Amino acid sequence: MAKEQGIIIDLHAHTYYSNCSQDDPRDVINVAIENGVNVLGVNDHNYGIGERKEQYIAEMRALASAYKGQITLLCGIEIATFPHLFDIKSPNEIANFDYCLIEHITSRQSIVGGNLIEFCKSLGIPCGIAHTDLFEYCDMYGKNYAEFFTQMANSGIFWEMNVNYDSIHGYHEHEYVKEFVSNEQKQAIVKASGLCVSVGFDGHRYKDYDGSRVRAMNSFLQKNGFSTLLSHPVLGKKIKNITL
Ligand SMILES: [Zn+2]
Ligand SMILES: [Zn+2]
Repeated sequence: MAKEQGIIIDLHAHTYYSNCSQDDPRDVINVAIENGVNVLGVNDHNYGIGERKEQYIAEMRALASAYKGQITLLCGIEIATFPHLFDIKSPNEIANFDYCLIEHITSRQSIVGGNLIEFCKSLGIPCGIAHTDLFEYCDMYGKNYAEFFTQMANSGIFWEMNVNYDSIHGYHEHEYVKEFVSNEQKQAIVKASGLCVSVGFDGHRYKDYDGSRVRAMNSFLQKNGFSTLLSHPVLGKKIKNITL
């Protein structure tokens, strides 16, 4: 239990499988280890991986074995939901991934629309919502926060606190994250719903990695009693089996 409390998870990293990164996964993993990360999720963009899904997953699984004992490596995919970037034709294509992150859902062009839970279920693997203000999403589609977050929690969907701060994104900080950590009312709604909250640095340049932001958000969530990925029905078991 003591060890569980201190586990540092970063479930959002990119490598040279994304068009927007040139990083060798070994550099990404090494910098995470140097920064005290215990569980790292690599999730390159679906439109960067393209037809190379098998190659990508094989490379990440080999690295997971090579780094066993130093860090737990999970293999995910970040799925764009703009119509011109979405290319998942069947859940079979992604069935071997540990998880996926969904983006763009608060854009009116997203193919998800108001059907986030149905969309995630159709993908067949654990889904997280990347760098998105879920309160804004609820407002867009007239959803009750408490009810919707409870449904999400029951469907195994998690919500990312994106702590990115790097050169490729112009040292931009996400407003919804700043708002969330300062708004106790919103925190109470999320906590009561049981929604799992994840942390992601969204690294695209390993030299820009700032582990202090990742560690601070992990401890904020743990100290304040949020459900984290450790209590996720699928990912929690997987992480505990490998890490503890
Ligand atoms: Zn990217
Ligand atoms: Zn990303």
